[in-house]
Amino acid sequence: MQSLENKIREVGKVLSPIVLKVDAFLNHQIDAALMKAVGEEFAARFSDVKATKILTLESSGIAPATMLGLVLGLPVIFARKRKSLTLSDNLLSATVHSFTKNVTSEISVSRDFLKAGDQVIIIDDFLANGEAVRGLLSVVEQADATAVGVGIVIEKGFQHGGKELREKGVRVESLAIVDSMDVDHITFRQQD
Ligand code: 5GP
Repeated sequence: MQSLENKIREVGKVLSPIVLKVDAFLNHQIDAALMKAVGEEFAARFSDVKATKILTLESSGIAPATMLGLVLGLPVIFARKRKSLTLSDNLLSATVHSFTKNVTSEISVSRDFLKAGDQVIIIDDFLANGEAVRGLLSVVEQADATAVGVGIVIEKGFQHGGKELREKGVRVESLAIVDSMDVDHITFRQQD
């Protein structure tokens, strides 16, 4: 997605050989117009699937997932990372190791919102080693629902998550795939 790649080149900061900071438009401040275009692009890429729900992970997946939900007219569920008093039982849970925070935490979704038979599109901001997506896939499986696809805003193609998921037969649509990066230059994978 050209406008996304342009934005990453313009304001993205390569913090280390493996960490890209995009808090100017995705992870802290949100560029709503770009997120709207991201939602439209996901909708076009998944136009052949019949989804019933969109599932993401708080907090950075919420903006792109909501934009897709708006375009498709579908409910958007975000898995919560912390247990809250109001989210106590009836939960679907999985353990996820956070790439950026280097902590392992439990993610939870209420069974009230994810049901057997649901056809789910999973959305997240980044794909690195695939931990977050694997946790979300586990939650979908526990609900006896089906993951019809995974939509990622930025995949880091030099990490192994995307390759592993695709090898397992998971459909992964990434709007930008970073093949390599350093402080002066980011190379994106050519996509059709
Ligand atoms: P994974 O679970 O695939 O290893 O990592 C994906 C998760 O870690 C995403 O939910 C995202 O929040 C975070 N993440 C991974 N790599 C990056 C990165 O380079 N920059 C930022 N801002 N977040 C990342």
